[in-house]
Amino acid sequence: MLSIQSTEIQQTKVKDLMIHAEKVANVQSQNPLEHALLVLVKTGYSAVPVLDSDFHFEGVISKTMIIESILGIERIEVEKLSNLRVKSVMEKEFPTLNKEDGFMQGLKVVVDHPFVCVVDEDGYFDGILTRRAILKRLNQYLHENFYQNEQSQG
Ligand code: AMP
Repeated sequence: MLSIQSTEIQQTKVKDLMIHAEKVANVQSQNPLEHALLVLVKTGYSAVPVLDSDFHFEGVISKTMIIESILGIERIEVEKLSNLRVKSVMEKEFPTLNKEDGFMQGLKVVVDHPFVCVVDEDGYFDGILTRRAILKRLNQYLHENFYQNEQSQG
């Protein structure tokens, strides 16, 4: 039976897998929606973290949230892109992790989210943990500890 106990995967921490803040595209909550849409389209990401001017994590904004916010009854109200601020459209209820959290905590939260933000005790943004990074580590673990055993037995 496959057992994930006392293994190096349990010693893996969020900090070992996260993308650090300086490499993460982000927008500020006071930015107009237009700016957020430009960042999302230019980076190709479907969502990015929202920070305040002191680098505290505030929420997440996605292309879908922006498009929904400018949908009128009969037309897309493009002028809203410069009138509305990111703060009024972003999702605030988003789970976060701490960089000292373990692999299993990371795995649990990325089940429902393609990425999760990593913040410190004071709410400062440290980076993101992506579902891709968690799956990559899990895949490596399974190959090293399970698949190889299966091959040597067979
Ligand atoms: P990935 O697993 O690389 O496909 O990333 C999943 C999601 O995480 C992307 O769609 C983005 O929303 C977010 N993401 C990944 N890398 C970055 C980054 N460097 N900056 C901002 N957001 C990112």
